[in-house]
Amino acid sequence: MSLQEAVKEIQSSFDVSQEVLQRSVDKFIELAKKGLASNEDKLGMPMLPAYVTQVPSGKEKGTYLAADLGGTNFRVCSVHLKGDNTFNLVQQKSPIPADMMVGTGDQLFAYLASKIRKFLEEHHGDALEAAHETNSRANYLKLGFTFSFPTAQHSLDSGSLVRWTKGFNIPDVVDQDVVQLLQKHLDAGKIPVHVAALANDTVGTLLSRAYSANAIAGGKQGETIIGAIFGTGTNGAYLEKLDNIKKLPEAVVKDLKAKGVTHMVINTEWGSFDNRLEVLPTTKYDRDVDALTANPGIHLFEKRVSGMFMGEILRNILVDFHSRGLVFTQYPNFESLPHRLRTPWDLDSENLSLFEVDDSKDMKPTEVTLLQALRLPTTLEERQAIQALTRAISRRSAYISAVPIAAIIMLTGALEGHHIEVDIGVDGSVVEFYPGYRTMLRDALALTQIGTKGERRTHINIAKDGSGVGAALCASVSI
Ligand code: ADP
Repeated sequence: MSLQEAVKEIQSSFDVSQEVLQRSVDKFIELAKKGLASNEDKLGMPMLPAYVTQVPSGKEKGTYLAADLGGTNFRVCSVHLKGDNTFNLVQQKSPIPADMMVGTGDQLFAYLASKIRKFLEEHHGDALEAAHETNSRANYLKLGFTFSFPTAQHSLDSGSLVRWTKGFNIPDVVDQDVVQLLQKHLDAGKIPVHVAALANDTVGTLLSRAYSANAIAGGKQGETIIGAIFGTGTNGAYLEKLDNIKKLPEAVVKDLKAKGVTHMVINTEWGSFDNRLEVLPTTKYDRDVDALTANPGIHLFEKRVSGMFMGEILRNILVDFHSRGLVFTQYPNFESLPHRLRTPWDLDSENLSLFEVDDSKDMKPTEVTLLQALRLPTTLEERQAIQALTRAISRRSAYISAVPIAAIIMLTGALEGHHIEVDIGVDGSVVEFYPGYRTMLRDALALTQIGTKGERRTHINIAKDGSGVGAALCASVSI
């Protein structure tokens, strides 16, 4: 088989037909409904109730705090909502010392509280003083806490750690309520802050876009109904009717209804869409990449879509092509290939965005990038093949990214009625920076059941500063 023929084979196995798109949308709706009804299916879509019961209108005012414990850093910020869809944001970032990641819960949360105090001293000295003078909790600043580890949430302001990831290992925190832990140490330090919400970055994206939407679009782009992330991973959140979230305990629903609540934000965790692979296109390379991950067999949608995986899929294809004698024939065997080409995860998706658009005659920019990133010399023919493979991978990613969006639009009936438009807030480097990604996603949307008419009425916009503002907004909408 020639290199051109092998590339053609990949192109056709990565192709996403209209039929596959539409079947996937139907499957997504089916699995979403299942996930809303129960948590029993461990391979299903989690569809987690976020206990956020409204999205902001853009008229909210006041100063709210956000704190984000991600992997390596702890970020604290304050967001001043001006009530006209705009805000001011101040942020401070501190690295988490390595010994804190494996010490005790008290050490870690006391450290986080101390960073919040430092932030307030530097940026909100007035609020500190006012709270100390009146000594009333009513004057406490509300904080949205983004805790990016698997957490079982029970209400807007409570959630227990399921397990640590990302190099953290503090056994005495597992199963503990992380909101209470942070609050305990804030109180111990007499820091006038109330942890009002446990936030999630995808939910935050929805809220921050909803808050800003009117200012940007002049109110013409309809309500923000979905927040979505296409970055290292992918996930989405949307507003669902309370009555449709059948798995919520009756007492909780009754209590919320008594407060006038009608809706709740659902964090879909759509990275786990179709873990049984009933509809998604699957190639040998997807199976190989999945096998290299820490969680084989789950997050299979994410593994076909997001930034963490696109480069790795390309690397796997290139290694396979080499083993078949189609490329890099100066290297006699796998062991002699440049080290980085042999190393999983060493080909960053960011490089693919350059291969994608290199229209120079000799593809010099691609040549240089491959040399820098992988120490891999290439011929023009090889670079042309790499570009074709890259385009097949990114196109498949963008096409199937349309599936959850079309499915949620249909599930919620968001486009039903005359002249209705909907707004989708998105965040993440892939959707923001990958050349042509949003255009391809829109092309695919038009091929789904919502059709060209629905696609035209769907607006996809970047949610700026999604995570910090979003967490602060989670605190602001707490009831
Ligand atoms: P995170 O999702 O971790 O918060 P980002 O939204 O920045 O952060 O996403 C990072 C991911 O996006 C990485 O996998 C990276 O390879 C990929 N990425 C960064 N820049 C680009 C780009 N220009 N084109 C495509 N992918 C990119």
